[in-house]
Amino acid sequence: MRRAIVVGALLFAAVADAQQGPAQYSREWYQQFSGAYSDPVEPFRIVGTIHYVGAANIASYLITTPEGHILIDTGMNEMHDVIKTNVVKLGFKVEDIRIMLSSHAHFDHIEGHAAMQRATGAQVMAMRGDAEALESGHDNSALGALGWEPVKVSRVLRHGDTVSLGGTTLRALHAPGHTQGATTWITTVEDAGQKYTMAFLGGTTPNGGVPLFNNPRHKNVIEDTRRTFKTLRAEKQPDIVLIGHPQAMFAKVIDRLRKGERPHPLLNGAEVWTKALAAQEAGFEKRVAEEKAKLGSR
Ligand SMILES: [Zn+2]
Repeated sequence: MRRAIVVGALLFAAVADAQQGPAQYSREWYQQFSGAYSDPVEPFRIVGTIHYVGAANIASYLITTPEGHILIDTGMNEMHDVIKTNVVKLGFKVEDIRIMLSSHAHFDHIEGHAAMQRATGAQVMAMRGDAEALESGHDNSALGALGWEPVKVSRVLRHGDTVSLGGTTLRALHAPGHTQGATTWITTVEDAGQKYTMAFLGGTTPNGGVPLFNNPRHKNVIEDTRRTFKTLRAEKQPDIVLIGHPQAMFAKVIDRLRKGERPHPLLNGAEVWTKALAAQEAGFEKRVAEEKAKLGSR
């Protein structure tokens, strides 16, 4: 009870604090994540050993191997049972999750880490920058939104590090624009005799409306975001790109995905990687120029 009051007060303080920032981060903005975004949705196999076990609009991806499983993102606390139920529905065991990874340390993708770590005993691995945030329970990104229950990180990763389990290897690309340790994961899966290069995109630019210059939370956020695009551009275009809020992306192809249609209905590398990243990079440079001009005119 006392904990509930303290947590409630902290939540209120954090939301009130955020409300002093960009206008779009209203109470309603926060509520969508624990509300509609966290609603249950039927799980499905995406391709090869990669499965969707997340909620309506917050992703959680399960990669299965003969030696246990890897889970990318745990979403909101509200999603804890959704994820566990979805893993079981697909015929796997929650206790077999051995490694927990993340796309980036914002509450809507990792709030559920602590509870999932307890439920599975899995090792949490995270990129430097985000690892500190996960362990402290505080959002250290340029946005600085709600915190979460701290979780122990067993292995702190650096750019280019790999995570391997049961014959599957994921490569971590440090993409520190959206958060200080945002990570894009690259792997290859085989499906019906065909190989697919997969990317789990960890976020690119800082949240809209967040100050880019003199942001004490993430001092070199502009250089870090530029480095993010340079890193992602240097990668070969993946066959399939998976994202953190996938509802709209899946909606167009969900029935064909669930049926396991081949050729694969989600070959979105050209659109979601090459084209979208170029547009985001151009948009970011425009934002930097506009903010610089505004600062100069004061
Ligand atoms: Zn985020």
